[in-house]
Amino acid sequence: MNHPRPDLAPATLAVHAGRPGHRQGGPVNPPIPLNSTYVSQGEVPPGELAYARADTDAWHAFEDALAALEGAAERGIVFSSGMAAIAAVLALVPSGGILVLPCHAYQTTGAYAADLADRHGVTVRRVDIADTDAVVAALDGADLLLIESPTNPMLEVADLPALIAAARERGVRTAVDNTFATPLGQRPLALGADLVVHSVTKYLAGHSDLVLGAVLTSDAGLAERVRGHRTLHGAIAGPFETWLALRGLRTLPLRFERACANAAELARRLAEHPGVAEVRHPSLPGDPGHERASAQMDLPGAIVGVRTVTDPGTGPAATADAVVARCRLWVPATSLGGVESLIERRRRWGTESATVPEDLLRLSVGIEDVEDLWADLDRALRPDTLGV
Ligand SMILES: *Cc1c(COP(=O)(O)O)cnc(C)c1O
Repeated sequence: MNHPRPDLAPATLAVHAGRPGHRQGGPVNPPIPLNSTYVSQGEVPPGELAYARADTDAWHAFEDALAALEGAAERGIVFSSGMAAIAAVLALVPSGGILVLPCHAYQTTGAYAADLADRHGVTVRRVDIADTDAVVAALDGADLLLIESPTNPMLEVADLPALIAAARERGVRTAVDNTFATPLGQRPLALGADLVVHSVTKYLAGHSDLVLGAVLTSDAGLAERVRGHRTLHGAIAGPFETWLALRGLRTLPLRFERACANAAELARRLAEHPGVAEVRHPSLPGDPGHERASAQMDLPGAIVGVRTVTDPGTGPAATADAVVARCRLWVPATSLGGVESLIERRRRWGTESATVPEDLLRLSVGIEDVEDLWADLDRALRPDTLGV
């Protein structure tokens, strides 16, 4: 396996990390090994493959490549979904323990935390992750702080260095869901976070064709616990999906840079649009997260939040729904991080937080030509062009 020097730039690591070593006649890409079991007898030394629920070489190239990008000292731990990865991280909170979670965390993460509260007596303290004082005040006696930044779907930006430092001082473990920012936007482990978690489904794989998750850490003990959780619960990744995710990861820097540039340009134009009441994107100088994002992120991310100017005849939800229905290029669908641009009114889900405005449209900006994306959005946002 190729382990390029960790000081190489992310664009180089994304292309080279996890490739087979250079051998005359050897393959350039790793194979897709299909094995449930490995030849094995007697005592199994650590690291030796024996049964594919516990470990398989089908995961290693992807796990090594993602670890290189996040700057993790330990091999990554791939899971069958982002939620499986989050469940493994939340399992670090003991029964009766305390978990600190953003109000606007990914909705299924919130639902999972509520389930832990019900079944395991975990106290869940929901905080405004952008309000550093409030988060720090909630850390007393906590077992885990799970940060999302920017948050889904409100795009609040946390003061990552301050929160991670405050948690460390108080002996509270920190995990960062880095799905939105990707390792190209921020690398929380370098700031002292204990764990990074990803929905690989989104930017890392990048083509809306698979569901996977991953956990990264530089702490050998934590890696062993998270890997042990995966073996016990069995939420393991298939060899083909993992191979596809690695193939997607190879172009992450190109895709993400283009998507971020498109998002920033669309956000700038949307802010002037007569059909738009509010735009959220960390690239906008007036955005609540702008200063922090400029200070701590290398790229502003490619999710844009848009609220529509309400049609008094129908109300906010119907106005926003009508915009989605008028789009021809933007795909009406949930999820994010693929090459294609998606648009969704988040509150169409009854489970989305009630503090998310009813007319908030979440735009996952893809890598298409920005003028084509703009033309479609511009038209969809003008109700007078209905049927044009
Ligand atoms: C999608 C998502 C998840 C869940 O990941 P799945 O792969 O869908 O299980 C977790 N966190 C964030 C921020 C997400 O966007």
